[in-house]
This record gives sequence, C-alpha cells and structure tokens, in this order.
Amino acid sequence: MVLFKKAADLSNWLETQRKNKRRVGFVPTMGALHAGHLSLIDSSKKENDITVASIFVNPTQFNDPKDFEKYPVTIEKDLDLLEKAGCNVLFLPSVKEIYPKGTISQKEYDLGFLETVLEGKYRPGHFQGVCMVVERLLNIVAPHNLYLGQKDYQQCMVITRLTELMGQPIRVNICPTLRESGGLAMSSRNMRLSEEERKTASTIYKCLSLAKEKLKPGNIAAIKKEMKTMLEKAGFKTDYAEIADARTLELINEWDGKRKLVGLIAAFLNEVRLIDNMMLN
Ligand code: AMP
Repeated sequence: MVLFKKAADLSNWLETQRKNKRRVGFVPTMGALHAGHLSLIDSSKKENDITVASIFVNPTQFNDPKDFEKYPVTIEKDLDLLEKAGCNVLFLPSVKEIYPKGTISQKEYDLGFLETVLEGKYRPGHFQGVCMVVERLLNIVAPHNLYLGQKDYQQCMVITRLTELMGQPIRVNICPTLRESGGLAMSSRNMRLSEEERKTASTIYKCLSLAKEKLKPGNIAAIKKEMKTMLEKAGFKTDYAEIADARTLELINEWDGKRKLVGLIAAFLNEVRLIDNMMLN
C-alpha cells in the first residue's frame, strides 16, 4: 500500500494512473476502522483497478467539540487492516493539507430539505461540514467510483446531491450496513461503549426490526411511539425514532402501503450518540 500525506502528490500519482486507463475507487473514512469500512474496500477492489482509502477526522463536521475530541484514533491498527484488505493507496492528510485556507467555509451547499430534517435538524452545520471535506477529497482523488455505507443513510443522500452540484461523473455506490452478531451496526463510536452498553445498544436494531414487522398501511404514528418508548426504557435519550420516505426523507405518518419507507434512529447511550436505519418494505 502506498501512503500519501500531500494532496498534490496523490493527485499527480492518480492522474498518471487514470491516463493508463486504470479505474479508481475511493473509500473516505474517519479511521478507527472496522469490518464495515473493510467491506467498502472489498466492494471497491472488485470493481476498480486501484482502491484509495482516506483517513481524516474532519473537524468541520462535528457540531459537538467534545465528540470531536473523543473520536477514536487507532492509526497503527488501521494501517495494518488496510494492508491486509489489499487497499492500494491510503491518503492520510493533515488538517492544513485539507483546509489550506482554514476551516471556515467559503460557501454554502444547497442541500434543500435534506438539511432541515433528522440529522440535518439535530446536528446543525454537520452536512455543510461533510460537503466541505468530501468536495475537497473528490477534487483531489477524482475517482470513477465512490463507496459509502448505508449506515449513514442521509449522508449518502447528501453526498449524492453534492456530486450532482459538483457536476462530476462519479458513480456513488451504497453498500449494506455490517452488524455485530446482536444486530448493533458497526461503528467507530462503539469503541466508546462498555461491554454492557454494547448489549443495550442492540436495542436500536431491535426497534427497527419491530417497525419492519409491525408496518401496515394506515396510520403509523403508534409504531414510532413504540420505538421511542422501547429506546427510553433501555436507557437511551432519543433524538429521533422516525419513519420516512426512503427516497426523499419526508416524514410519514399515514402510509399508503406503496411508498418505500426507511426507519431511522438517532439516540444517545450516555455520552455516545448512535445512529442506524433499516429499509422497512
Ligand atoms: P466513518 O469512518 O464513520 O466516516 O465511515 C466511513 C464510511 O464507512 C462511510 O461511508 C460509512 O457509512 C461507512 N460505514 C460506517 N459504518 C459502517 C457499517 N457498519 N457498515 C457499512 N459501512 C459503514
């Protein structure tokens, strides 16, 4: 695996590869890698000649400074995992390298409704920060294929929108969520949970599974209420337990039995904020 720390070096190297007709797949991450991340590397390897991963804990997407400070960093282990997964290139930039002009945004991304709902509502500024870093990374890597996890459902929609705004011919590939045996979605933030908390955290998956099981045409407000109650009984502080149109994220209370729906949860277990989602039909 080749390691790049400088944007210009990586850009130049990739330009040569593209001239030689090599297809480039890109997996952006914030490190503290787990099997979920590695599944994206795997997908990219199957469909491209060169797989580039990046590790960058992006300060501009953390609306809570404490969350940023406590974000896990396990770089030695990450290098080892990427090497073993057969990743070809790792981009490991500094904050200065990504934001040479500083971290204050120079522009506003027009994300429309997506920014007003769910994660957009509960984490103000978060998606602007995501767009800021992903635009920069996409300009440096200019991949043919981008690999994202469905675990961050709304982020997938935001980044798809960003690629449209950028007008770049990048194919966005959304990969399934990898889970622990109890159903808990793998996440770097799980490292901050105790053994006991991990068991409790699988309640999120159970809630989503319950919603899927109970879904029937008509009023679905009672299902959402049941999800919230279940989370609160387990000791969570819930930001949202919602059911939304899978294509637009419009929140749904009356279901016509046809629209494709997604269940989405964000909840705190003590200090740790966890998110997950599931297609319901
Ligand atoms: P992160 O390091 O959390 O920014 O995640 C980097 C990429 O990995 C994002 O596209 C995530 O959606 C994806 N990802 C995170 N967790 C999982 C998971 N459990 N299964 C599949 N992909 C994931």
